[in-house]
Amino acid sequence: MVRASWLILLAILLFEVVASAQTSAPGAASVPPNQTAAPHPFDIRAAVDAYLAKMPPARRAASDAYFEGGYWLQLWDFLCTVFVMWLLLRFHWSARMRNLAERLTHFHPLQTVLYWIQFFVVASVLTFPLGIYEGYFREHKYGLLNQTFGPWLRDQVVALIVGLVLGAILMVPLFGVVRKLGKNWWVWGSVLMIVFAAFVSLIAPVYIAPLFNKYRKLEDARVRDPILSMARANGIPATDVYEFDASRQSNRVSANVSGFANTLRISLNDNLLNRCTLPEIETTMGHEMGHYVLNHEYKGIVMFGVVIVIGFAFLNWGINSSLARSGEKWEVRGITDVAVLPLAVIVFSLFFLLMTPVMNTISRTMEYEADMYGLNAAQQPDGEANVDMLLGEYRKLDPGPVEEFIFYDHPSGRTRITAAMRWKAEHPESANPDEVARPLSYTK
Ligand SMILES: [Zn+2]
Repeated sequence: MVRASWLILLAILLFEVVASAQTSAPGAASVPPNQTAAPHPFDIRAAVDAYLAKMPPARRAASDAYFEGGYWLQLWDFLCTVFVMWLLLRFHWSARMRNLAERLTHFHPLQTVLYWIQFFVVASVLTFPLGIYEGYFREHKYGLLNQTFGPWLRDQVVALIVGLVLGAILMVPLFGVVRKLGKNWWVWGSVLMIVFAAFVSLIAPVYIAPLFNKYRKLEDARVRDPILSMARANGIPATDVYEFDASRQSNRVSANVSGFANTLRISLNDNLLNRCTLPEIETTMGHEMGHYVLNHEYKGIVMFGVVIVIGFAFLNWGINSSLARSGEKWEVRGITDVAVLPLAVIVFSLFFLLMTPVMNTISRTMEYEADMYGLNAAQQPDGEANVDMLLGEYRKLDPGPVEEFIFYDHPSGRTRITAAMRWKAEHPESANPDEVARPLSYTK
């Protein structure tokens, strides 16, 4: 009897174990159905290659040519600037502009403004042919510009006026510092430059951006509400979302979260609204919110500040050693003379050309951080990959590592999509078959 009861008990226990194993088999559904169906684990590299293959080969070749041409343009821009500045020095145009400013007034700050206006207009006119090629004809050749010449020129004139005003705001105190502090001008000069950069990024979204595009409140609740919900979840105090008409200029998709306190605004461009699905818009906004939450604006100013201090030390050395050799020949009296400006531009341009990989790496690192943030905030890795493919219209998708290090101010398409697919591999529930299947419409 005892034996029999043991056997019955054992049988009941076994039955219960088997039964519970059977009922809990579907209950192990923390792994979603599509994952249990897949015989192999998610292949990140294959998923990345499948996204990259969405771009037709001809479009890919054009994008590569456009972006690689940009490497050379940085060099041509530098050489063109040096040539124009050399003309201003060699033929004493800079000295004459200063003489005219001194004849018109004895007040130093006003002399600086009068010199600056002449200098900036002449330099802009002389570099304009390269500017037309670069900003107008070349953009049209690659199908990246929507403007006819008239509206394009109007934007250039507005940019010129903005440059005139902002430049004067910088030049007057900068030359004041040079005159007051003599040898050590570059320390306080760089502090002034950093404050100026912070000032420009403070006013730009509210006072400068609207000069080029119209901003209005986004009324479409299907897009606005998920964005505002994401903003609240990420501690961003915004009550409205703005859209702006970037399609005036191009088909590029873009958005931003900019400004401080009362000027804080979330903006997205009409190309993003018209060309992208909601998951794609959400992942883009997640990225932009990442910039905001991670304080990239402030960190950027700090890192830019370090580069600027080094740059001003280099500028001080470059100007003094050049003036010792050729100052008299150019009729430039010294570092306190505004006519020194073309020389300063040459030295500063050389410095920033050499600093290209440093500046790009500062930017690219923060962009990568914002990508990670956006993936976690929006949880749309497939939408992210599709947006990265759209950005591949004008940014080479698959560069070598050295190329990416030197020339990329954002991560390349391959880097970004690899990050998205890596995230997706760890979050299989986020897979979005519609996004995976979606063919991308390229503009040309
Ligand atoms: Zn960004």
